[in-house]
Amino acid sequence: MKTEQRVMLGVDVESDWGSGSRSGIETVLPRLLALFHECAVRATFFVVGELAAAFREQVDPGGPHEVGSHGLTHALLDRLDWDGVMREVVGSKERLESAGYEVRGFRAPFLRSPPWLATIVRDAGYGYDASEGSVYPDPRVFFSRSRRPRRQDGLLRLGVSTLRDRITPASLTYLRLYHPLGLRLFSPSAHFFSCHLHELLEARGGWQRLPSPLRRLHGRKSGQAAFRILETLLRRPGLRFVSCREFLDEAL
Ligand SMILES: [Zn+2]
Repeated sequence: MKTEQRVMLGVDVESDWGSGSRSGIETVLPRLLALFHECAVRATFFVVGELAAAFREQVDPGGPHEVGSHGLTHALLDRLDWDGVMREVVGSKERLESAGYEVRGFRAPFLRSPPWLATIVRDAGYGYDASEGSVYPDPRVFFSRSRRPRRQDGLLRLGVSTLRDRITPASLTYLRLYHPLGLRLFSPSAHFFSCHLHELLEARGGWQRLPSPLRRLHGRKSGQAAFRILETLLRRPGLRFVSCREFLDEAL
């Protein structure tokens, strides 16, 4: 009998494309929670600390999903000094915990971080880090030994998960960009899949900081089309989507 492939599902929760508005939390999150319920999916929401109160209105700490930190303000950690990174890592954990969540995981915004991030994350009392890899396809991960979850320097690392080409991040962004081929590229060895709330918003123009051709590309298949792509993946036979906590507790 073919064994089921367990995949960690991570959802990054931040304001919409840096605009500061929260439509993702207000309009997408309720639909996403309903979809997860229908598909018996459990996810880890990596939530920006300053959005803890808005998020708490929709996601109960006693529910099926896990909540991790995505920084305090979604600042780029590789542009901050030690104290600045401390504020983001420690401050977000405090904010989310005072909203009632038990926070074990950290995920750096844009997966950009200084090389000493893990020390701060570990010392702040997190159990795992999900900041490895790149938001862009990266040939360096092709032969990388950091493709699986592992324990390193007293901290669990999620490792880098890719599509079948072994260089493209396993994320909704690339399933949209490569659509309709994207879903076929989902790898039987992927162990982590990520998406953002704002990808599921209608009429997205793409990430505003990108040059306009790239921005149009990045807005491709967003909103309802993105929901359909995500739902197809979540319902795929043989895949079981779980929170990072659940995956790591069983695997390591
Ligand atoms: Zn983010």
